[in-house]
Amino acid sequence: MRYVKVLINKKIASLDRDFIYEVPPEYIGSVRIGSVVSVPFGHQTAKGIVIGLAEKPIDKDFDIKFIDAPVNETFLFPSDLLLLADELSRFYTETTMAMLKAMIPAGVNLFGKAQKPKTERWLLPPDEPAAAPPRGPKRRALAALLAEEGEISFAAAAARGFSADVCGGLVKSGGAKLENRPVQRYSYAESSSESAEIPALTEEQSRVLERIRNRAPDDHRPILLHGVTGSGKTEVYLRLIEDTLKKGKQAIVLLPEIALTPQFVKIFEGRFRGKVALFHSRLSHGERRDSWYAMRSGDVRIALGARSCVFAPAADLGLIIIDEEHEDSYEQDSAPRFHARKAAELRCALCGADLVLGSATPSFESYAKAEDGVYDLVTMKHRVNDTPLPKIRTVDMREELKRGWTEVLSRELLSEMERTLSRKKQVMLFLNRLGYHTFISCRDCGFVYRCPDCGVPLTYYQKEKCLRCTRCGYRLEVSDHCPECGSRRIRYFGLGVEQLESVVRRHFPAAVIDRLDSDSVKKKGSVDEVYERMKRGETEILIGTRMIAKGWDFPDVALMGIVAADYTLNFPDFRSGERTFQMIAQVAGRCGRSREQGTVILQTYRPDEPALVLGGLQDYDTYYRWEEKNRRRFGYPPFSHMMRVLLTTPPDYLKKEELKEIRGCFPAEGLRVFGPAPAIYKERAREKWVITFLGEELFSLREAIKKGVSRLESEKIIDKNISVKIETEPVHPV
Ligand SMILES: [Zn+2]
Ligand SMILES: [Zn+2]
Repeated sequence: MRYVKVLINKKIASLDRDFIYEVPPEYIGSVRIGSVVSVPFGHQTAKGIVIGLAEKPIDKDFDIKFIDAPVNETFLFPSDLLLLADELSRFYTETTMAMLKAMIPAGVNLFGKAQKPKTERWLLPPDEPAAAPPRGPKRRALAALLAEEGEISFAAAAARGFSADVCGGLVKSGGAKLENRPVQRYSYAESSSESAEIPALTEEQSRVLERIRNRAPDDHRPILLHGVTGSGKTEVYLRLIEDTLKKGKQAIVLLPEIALTPQFVKIFEGRFRGKVALFHSRLSHGERRDSWYAMRSGDVRIALGARSCVFAPAADLGLIIIDEEHEDSYEQDSAPRFHARKAAELRCALCGADLVLGSATPSFESYAKAEDGVYDLVTMKHRVNDTPLPKIRTVDMREELKRGWTEVLSRELLSEMERTLSRKKQVMLFLNRLGYHTFISCRDCGFVYRCPDCGVPLTYYQKEKCLRCTRCGYRLEVSDHCPECGSRRIRYFGLGVEQLESVVRRHFPAAVIDRLDSDSVKKKGSVDEVYERMKRGETEILIGTRMIAKGWDFPDVALMGIVAADYTLNFPDFRSGERTFQMIAQVAGRCGRSREQGTVILQTYRPDEPALVLGGLQDYDTYYRWEEKNRRRFGYPPFSHMMRVLLTTPPDYLKKEELKEIRGCFPAEGLRVFGPAPAIYKERAREKWVITFLGEELFSLREAIKKGVSRLESEKIIDKNISVKIETEPVHPV
């Protein structure tokens, strides 16, 4: 191969195309598709990736330059990921280079020097026995230990009281041989507490597996596994993975937030010992590097991780599973934007692998596709123990107020908590609000403390006596007077979990209470600790944010109190009902998972809201039908395609006239346009404007928007102080 197409590592979008280079004779054979190379580019040298072969160009208007050299002779970018990056970049109007970079974890170091694997020093018996016994009692003792064990690592020797100096001394004196062995940082030494015993399948699980195994061989439609909470979807995943491994293929399993689901990881480790590698951002660079290469070489067969794990370099991919597929965290909302579900769909189609999407509350996007037959719908309606779903009781908090009860916990919830605790069962309380008070404001002028970067109200933390932004972590000391008008009448509003904990402690002073939220688990390992305390039955009341809804399975939780169900409903986004329904249903699903039916108490100011009531009942079908009508009426996704254009500007930058002019750049025919409207969130104190587009057909919608954006730039309607982003089928609110 003499001529190749190289994608240059530059951030400029107009350079995000291939350039043709000639391979010098000495590198023919070693430079291949996927090689990282350094090339002359303009008057500089640049790095790039070989993305394809090229014909020798016919027109002789320009000279074809030679590649300088490969940057890293052993590294090859996986070729299926090159294709995937190309497709994703066109779908999301991102640059291919940005997409390629997002696929490779930190630690693999795409354009830098190759990182070396970590090694560990071992002592082995010498090739020839030493002439004399080693000098010194320590060395002699170590030599004896080595003779007994056959080999010993420096670490193991240290654990038995032999320092690295003693080990080195023994080697020097000829009493032992030194060997550096690579250490696999992806595997864990810790023993799994979950048993690897394989449970018998329920009738429904068997039926579902049969149904999936007996699909027509050419049917590679994504499977939507819709199973109620507690129906045992995980066991179905495990069996499907076993099938995949038996065929000699690899599997990728995605979880919404892997750092929060240590017990899920343990189940996988227990069942597939030594075959699992983790992929997520809390791992060290070295661990990520090792996971990547182990998956690439086929040493491990299963990649388990968060959204970017969809790019794990499986050479022989047979299956991708996305658990809790409705979760928003599968979308990466910073550049390059992508949704792991879309990426998985495209990747499976490229290599003929199967895709399984699992959820008790599927996203409307996926469910609509299943109804259209684009996805293959498989349902599980029974819980593993055949326990009925929990009973749900709604408490109208307006009535409580009318009767003079001003506590955050209703009388009904309090008495049910007492009853549950006296029966030695566990209670969970759910409140999706961080901190002590959710905002503070001035009584006289109405001033609200806000984050200067994000524009959202700051949360008050009592323990630290400070205000903090729950989005970006910005911190502010509270002053005793209003910064706006000087008044001392500062008031605190809104209930957060920190406050809920102190309320519960006041009502139940003798109970063992634990709390789980992103503030209380900053320390590594503490999610695990909360989980274990709960599992052992030590915790009587667990209070938490949506973290406690993450697939946890405690058989002794008999009561779930949803303390304030209304918050997410008030969010100005067309998906707020769907999100509320999903959250309530997932939370409700955490209780009554053993033989006994559980109870859910839902406190609300809006007891007639379908998202709440049906969420508590976990009645997906009825809710879907109800919400489907609304979405169809207003033409919202999944019954249309949505795209957005985001304009980020300095504060007070765009005037009304300019906003009108911007909108005028986009065609109004065949699509619906909303905005520019101010975004809910700011970004680094810059203002954000959103234009939302809805259209019947994605391709023409995208083309129209691309045309509009290039008009904005070519006609200089926007200047360089304004940055523009295009979002395709976005899920997160802005
Ligand atoms: Zn004031
Ligand atoms: Zn902030």
